[in-house]
Amino acid sequence: MKTIVIATKNKGKIREMTQAFEGLPVKLVPLSDFGELPDAVEDGTTFEDNAKIKARFYMEETKTACLADDSGLEVEALGGAPGVHSARFAGGHASDEANNEKLLAEIVRKGLDSSPAAYRCVLAFVDTNGAALTAEGSCKGVIRPKAKGSGGFGYDPYFYIEENKTMAELTLAEKDAISHRGKALREMATQLSAYLAQKSERHS
Ligand code: IMP
Repeated sequence: MKTIVIATKNKGKIREMTQAFEGLPVKLVPLSDFGELPDAVEDGTTFEDNAKIKARFYMEETKTACLADDSGLEVEALGGAPGVHSARFAGGHASDEANNEKLLAEIVRKGLDSSPAAYRCVLAFVDTNGAALTAEGSCKGVIRPKAKGSGGFGYDPYFYIEENKTMAELTLAEKDAISHRGKALREMATQLSAYLAQKSERHS
């Protein structure tokens, strides 16, 4: 059984990852098991950079294989913004409401009232021997100014996956089936399974 620390304090993400890796010979442990740790400096310019920075940083801090993710929204009309700045689009510890308000205002400033967009998620795994895996998932939609639904989080009430349906109107299972994070997790589960099988073969 391989122990993997998950580089997040978000309980929802820990639950999603535990579910996605069910059946793999891994024991997932939260970062909180290692006490107070410094925050990784997420100064990469891409989701992949930031996911790798976090996975490597916490692998070194905990001396344990580590899985990290980075995700966000890319809006076509805004040249891909907010991108890696999605969580703090409206500033430091901005609320979802403030981020959404800024997002809609920026689209209006371009003389538009909607724009194609995509959620993207990259997962990075770094083992204690330095071996690394990455997996990516994306989900296309359209940002429109009318909020709908009360599920999900972040930009979901404005992210239309169909003409008249937002991400915030999906159940957790429905969102997982089509979301960027769900796709990246399934891809990582496949890669991790192959990596662990190859490793145990080499040691047998
Ligand atoms: P992080 O990967 O947890 O740092 O998430 C970055 C930010 O991207 C979040 O704070 C949200 O603003 C946005 N985001 C990522 N995934 C989703 C999603 O599934 N729905 C809505 N917003 C998301």
